[in-house]
Amino acid sequence: MNNLRKQFPILANNPDLIYLDNAATTLKPGVVLDKMMEYYTQYGANIHRGIYPMSERATEEYERGREKVAGFIGANMASELVFTRGTTESLNLVADGWARRNLKAGDEVVVEEIGHHANLLPWQRLALEMGLVLKYVPIGDGVESLVTAKTRMVAMTAMSNVLGQKVEVGEVVAKIKRANPKVVVVVDGAQAVGHGKVNVVESGADFWAFSGHKMYGPTGIGGLWARTERWKEMEPLMLGGGAVREVSLEGYRLLDGPQGFEAGTPPIAEAIGLGAAADFVESVGRERIELEEERLAGYAYEKLVNMRGLKVLGKEGGRIVSLSVEGVHPHDLADYLGKYNICVRAGHHCAMPLHTKLGLEASLRISFGLYNSEEEVDRLVEKLDEVIKLFQNG
Ligand code: PMP
Repeated sequence: MNNLRKQFPILANNPDLIYLDNAATTLKPGVVLDKMMEYYTQYGANIHRGIYPMSERATEEYERGREKVAGFIGANMASELVFTRGTTESLNLVADGWARRNLKAGDEVVVEEIGHHANLLPWQRLALEMGLVLKYVPIGDGVESLVTAKTRMVAMTAMSNVLGQKVEVGEVVAKIKRANPKVVVVVDGAQAVGHGKVNVVESGADFWAFSGHKMYGPTGIGGLWARTERWKEMEPLMLGGGAVREVSLEGYRLLDGPQGFEAGTPPIAEAIGLGAAADFVESVGRERIELEEERLAGYAYEKLVNMRGLKVLGKEGGRIVSLSVEGVHPHDLADYLGKYNICVRAGHHCAMPLHTKLGLEASLRISFGLYNSEEEVDRLVEKLDEVIKLFQNG
């Protein structure tokens, strides 16, 4: 994959950069940046409003972005995809826009201990406000194990951003729906979309949430996918211009389809850039990316798993490697690695309940992208070994 590095201007500008924080955000290829620049320099008008050619072009490109991304995730129709700021907004939209209006006190919502805060906090707040019963799936257990006749919602992840274990979402959803066909399933796809094959329709889930910036696309854009019937049961998080069919002093009627959920001026360049990111990932090949990222994670796992005083948190076969080192705070490790231009993440990674369960305050996370190499992992391991010895002997 080394030739792909050339396609990322940030790597060309920083030849020594070893970027292993891809679970936080991926770097952006030139084609995405160029496409966004094209919008700003050639037809940077607002969308859905103007009837002059430049605005029409902007609208077309924005909607083409939606079509590309919808096709990329396997949606039946582009209108099933609403652009949001990313996974966090999408999950809040499911909680506030769908669940608040379709669940009632006493209904059970299944969430995961491994869940990202974005897929926990909206449910915790809603449970408090509505009297829902939250049930937490213990680490390592199947989500379906907690589904009962009272379960109305399951909020699951397609891949933990700490443990990196891939979930066969389709199989899990089938088990959930077999246990109780009435359950509505929302999938946090932040770490899955763009890193492997995802087909939202085939997965059998009701909602998929994802972020553009984790799939080689821009920040500030992501999506929520749901089938048309679900969108009809929902209310937008925000109301305002661009989303209405008609407004009078007595009230308003929203537009059908995604526009009704995208009030205000959306992130136009970002939506267009996200379309380019989908094309880019597709051109590299999702299977190839998945295999490569898994191979590198496996390579790192093997090298790290037997290192003295170091504990790898996930199992073999994941796509992300998180670890803790006895007696050394992950911040100190990341700080040391940073001096050598090695970027890894230290902290709780927005998964505090998971870390609490593991008896840790924080961990060090190594996560891979399509531009990483074995040499980079070797360098990381070498420097990690160095800093651990420094702390343990000092
Ligand atoms: N869920 C998971 C599994 C994630 O890894 C992240 C990002 N760390 C999010 C949700 C939130 O994504 P965003 O910050 O792009 O909204």
